[in-house]
Amino acid sequence: MTFEEIKNLDEQYVMHSYGRFPVAIDHGRGATLWDVNGREYIDFTSGIGVTSLGHADEGWLKAVADQAGKLAHISNLFYTAPYALAAQALCTRTGMANVMFANSGAEGNEAMIKLARKWSFDKYGKGRGTVITLHNSFHGRTITTLAATGQDKFHNYFFPFTEGFRYADANDLDSVEAVAGHDVCAVMMELVQGEGGVLPLEQEFVQKVADLCAKRDWLLLIDEVQTGVGRTGTLFAFQQYNIQPDVVSFAKGIAGGLPFGGVMANEKCKAVFSPGTHGTTFGGNPIAAAAACHVLERLDDVFLAQVREKGAYLRAQVEEMNLPCLGKTRGLGLMIGIEVKGDKSNQELAAKLIENGLLVLTAGPGLRFLPPLTITQEEMDKGLAILRETLS
Ligand SMILES: *Cc1c(COP(=O)(O)O)cnc(C)c1O
Repeated sequence: MTFEEIKNLDEQYVMHSYGRFPVAIDHGRGATLWDVNGREYIDFTSGIGVTSLGHADEGWLKAVADQAGKLAHISNLFYTAPYALAAQALCTRTGMANVMFANSGAEGNEAMIKLARKWSFDKYGKGRGTVITLHNSFHGRTITTLAATGQDKFHNYFFPFTEGFRYADANDLDSVEAVAGHDVCAVMMELVQGEGGVLPLEQEFVQKVADLCAKRDWLLLIDEVQTGVGRTGTLFAFQQYNIQPDVVSFAKGIAGGLPFGGVMANEKCKAVFSPGTHGTTFGGNPIAAAAACHVLERLDDVFLAQVREKGAYLRAQVEEMNLPCLGKTRGLGLMIGIEVKGDKSNQELAAKLIENGLLVLTAGPGLRFLPPLTITQEEMDKGLAILRETLS
């Protein structure tokens, strides 16, 4: 099919909930993609942080194909090896106690919020279901995770939203204490605010929030949907913050491109969900779970050190270019935000870069790079050359 044919069908038959860029991607390999006209692109997006091993990775493909040839789906009323093995890999690598799988980040966060409320209900009874989240956060697109998202622009149209959320400012402990109360059961946050603009929280703030949670018997809920699975240069970002969260959600990169996500709980929270209290038809799907096992196996210490090196390289190169429209970079590992200055918006810059063969994302008012964690030196340099030529 030609680009025009695909676009026409999409315009006619697809709900216009996205303003798409005028490109139809056909296939990829590593961090390189080709559109339906055979044009090449360097991928600094991984979808949105999803294809952690790049496109059409051989090991991933084999893990997926082998499992698809054995068993694509069975309900959660039965045991499967991929589910158990993926859960074991997550727990042994993080010190968490157990896992429940879902299909997306929003579902992982829904599970995390439900778990926190039930934990508190079991211990204290009704009236303690409020979760404190941060301004500028992003937690998903369901009615409840929109309510959890601390940005006013997401609290529109879909009234009534789920009650029981209050918002505090990032890196400001007083602001967290100001919204405390007897109705609070948990604090939920991203350690690097992703959609909000790639804003890493300060170590000291995060540790003080963890202390406050311990003192008030609140659960510490960490949304690692974007930061997790090697993206920040450790398996999970919380491992760089010297905290022990009670519950951690994850999704995006976990299965290297297949819909997968979930929550991990510590000892204290491992028995909150009893049979019948939470469920999902697709969550823990054997193919996605087999893919997750493969992704986790690949993310060893050497691999993670390379993620940190590549992130440092990309940031140093971008800053060295000193482009008139770009400012400082920030982030952790291969989760990189770049300040946009001058009269062109981040959307305009992204559109121009994509037109010239480099896929990038925006976040908040800036640009965002989330390349496949396996991106090669050559691919990074090709992408950087397009960046320099397009924006200088
Ligand atoms: C993407 C994202 C979500 C939502 O994930 P979906 O898979 O789109 O539901 C939630 N939290 C964070 C931090 C995210 O980046």
